[in-house]
Amino acid sequence: MISYKYKLYRTDRTKHLDRMLREACFVWNHALALQKRYYRLYSKYINCGRMKAHFVKRISRNLLHSQTVQELLERLDDAYKRFFEHLAARPPKFKRAKDFSSIVFKQGGYCLNGNVLTVNKLGKRFKFSLSRPYAGKVKTLTVKRSPLGEYFIVMVLDKAPVAIRKTHNGASVGIDFGLKTYMTMSDGTTVKSPQFLKSTLPKVQRASRNLSKSASDSHHHQNRRMELDRVHERIVNKRTDFQWQLCHQLCRQYDHIYIEDLQLTGMTALWGRKMNDLAHGAFINKLEYVATKYGVTVHKIDRFYPSSKTCTCGYVNKQLQLKDRHWTCPECGAVHSRDLLAAQNILRQGIAELESTSKTPSARRAHVRLHPRISRIHA
Ligand SMILES: [Zn+2]
Repeated sequence: MISYKYKLYRTDRTKHLDRMLREACFVWNHALALQKRYYRLYSKYINCGRMKAHFVKRISRNLLHSQTVQELLERLDDAYKRFFEHLAARPPKFKRAKDFSSIVFKQGGYCLNGNVLTVNKLGKRFKFSLSRPYAGKVKTLTVKRSPLGEYFIVMVLDKAPVAIRKTHNGASVGIDFGLKTYMTMSDGTTVKSPQFLKSTLPKVQRASRNLSKSASDSHHHQNRRMELDRVHERIVNKRTDFQWQLCHQLCRQYDHIYIEDLQLTGMTALWGRKMNDLAHGAFINKLEYVATKYGVTVHKIDRFYPSSKTCTCGYVNKQLQLKDRHWTCPECGAVHSRDLLAAQNILRQGIAELESTSKTPSARRAHVRLHPRISRIHA
C-alpha cells in the first residue's frame, strides 16, 4: 500500500465539498448523540453494525455516498474503542462543521480520470495538480480540507512502494535520540536539533496575540486565525521536509539501523512542547517506511535495556541522572559521553538481539517491523 497526496485547484466549486463536509459532520454528531443518549437510557454501547443499519434508512436524501457514511461511523467506533482500551484519555467529542476536515470514499461515489475527480452525488468535477503520476488500483480516496481552507486528496493505492536501488555494504549503526542533539550515531557523528517551533516561536506568539486581540465574531478575526494557521503550517512543512531528507540520508548510508523503542507518551508528558517539536515518533515512522524502499532493516531494541547506563565492561550505573552528560565508570575508570555510549550500546544490543532471534527465522521476521502506520490517513 502506498499513498499519494495531491492538491486541488482552487475554484468556486469547492464550496460543494464544504457542503459534503458539513453533512459528514452532521453524521458524526448525530451518531455521537445517539450513542450518548443510548448509554444514558440503557447503559450500553451501540455496536458499529447496528449503527450502520440505522443510518442506511435515514441517509438516502444525503450528499454522501453510503460507504462514506459507513466510514464515518467506523471512525467514531474506532474513537470509542481507543477510549475503552485506555488508549485515549477522553471519549470522542462533538465537532464543529468548520473543523471537520475529511471524508473518505471507499470503492464507490467518485470517478477518477487523469487529474480530474468527479464526485457522483454532487455531479461536479474537480481538477487537481498532478504533481506525480499514480498507477495501480485506488483502494480509498480521502478528501481533506486544511485549516487554511485548501483542499487535498489522498489516494491509497494497492501497490508496493517503488524500491530504490543501492549497493548494500553491510554497514550498521546505532542511534540514540535526544533533546539537546537530535540524534547521536554510534560512529560519533551527531545531528543537531532543528527546533522549528522554537525558532519561529516569536512569530507564533505574535500571530496568536493578534488573534486574541481581535473581536471573536469579526471578519478580521478569521484573517488573523488564517495567519496563525499559516505560521503553523510552515513549521510542519519544514519539519517533515527535514525528517524525510534525514531518513533518505541514513538509509543510503547504512544497511542496518538500530534504534531505541521510545516511550513517547511519557516523554511528551515530561518535556511537553520541545518533545512534540522534535517529533521523534513521526521520524521513526518515516524511517521505517523509507527503509522498506531501500531494503534496509530497522530494528528496535528491547525497551528496558539501560543503554546510557551500561559501561562497556558490563557495569550498570543505576545512579545516572538525566542531567548527567558524562560519567566515569567506577569499575574500569572509563569516561563516557552519555549519548555516544547509548548509541554504541544500542548498536551492540541490537546486533545481539538479532543474532539470538535469527536462529528461528519466523521470530526474526516478527522483530523487523515491515510496514509503518504511514498510510493511515484520516485525521
Ligand atoms: Zn566500566
